[in-house]
Amino acid sequence: MPFTHARQLSFRSPSITGSNWALLPSAAGFVDPLLSTGFPLTLLGITRLGKILDEHWGSPRLETSLQEYARQTDDELLATARLIGALYQNMNDFPTFRLLSLLYFAAASYAEVARRLNKPELASSFLLHDHPEFGPESRRLLTLARATLGPAEKEALTNDIYRLIRDFDVAGLGKRPANHCYPVDAADLFASAQKLGTDATEIEALLRRTGFYSAEIRHQH
Ligand SMILES: Cc1cc2nc3c(=O)[nH]c(=O)nc-3n(C[C@H](O)[C@H](O)[C@H](O)COP(=O)(O)OP(=O)(O)OC[C@H]3O[C@@H](n4cnc5c(N)ncnc54)[C@H](O)[C@@H]3O)c2cc1C
Repeated sequence: MPFTHARQLSFRSPSITGSNWALLPSAAGFVDPLLSTGFPLTLLGITRLGKILDEHWGSPRLETSLQEYARQTDDELLATARLIGALYQNMNDFPTFRLLSLLYFAAASYAEVARRLNKPELASSFLLHDHPEFGPESRRLLTLARATLGPAEKEALTNDIYRLIRDFDVAGLGKRPANHCYPVDAADLFASAQKLGTDATEIEALLRRTGFYSAEIRHQH
């Protein structure tokens, strides 16, 4: 196909559910390819719809649970838009762009490990946007990051972001390596076991179950 230029790809559907129907998140709205949010949003939606059909099919609760699904889906699109909007706003300021991306990496890696530990309730929303601590504070910081900030405000933003991710960082993001590269290191996960309400034995079992060690051996060879 020849290259084509599309002015605007993002959209947000005014209705997400109705009587006995629901849109998947990917049909309910789209923000931007940055951060690859399509699959996780869709999979979260499928999980929720599966649970609704399983528990409420044929019951009067179906309607209200679909409405709740619509609210969650729309809220997650807005949370995604807030993060991606702040990143685009700082596209010409790479240190701030990189700093803001920590909110994504902290939330995504925390949620992925929580799921692999069979504790999805620890991270029930995308980007932890409805987490009582992470949600409101990341919203505040992302709103702040959309304004033009002076050096002192940028320093405060940096400190606030590192403070916010501290209790959710399971990937060594707070180590601030000089080259900004974060290797995949199992030690980071062991050191973060408490943040996930677990211990070294369960982390060890998770790494074995998900093939981490065999992948490591393949990598070494
Ligand atoms: C170019 C591109 C790159 C992307 N890259 C990423 C990425 O890197 N990371 C990420 O997270 N997300 C990415 N996404 C988004 C991601 O692909 C979507 O969010 C996800 O695939 C949506 O899943 P879905 O099941 O809702 O829809 P789809 O994957 O589109 O599946 C719908 C299926 O239904 C079929 N279908 C449609 N109508 C009918 C019909 N009448 N009868 C029978 N079958 C029908 C279609 O053929 C299709 O197979 C990308 C999207 C695009 C377009």
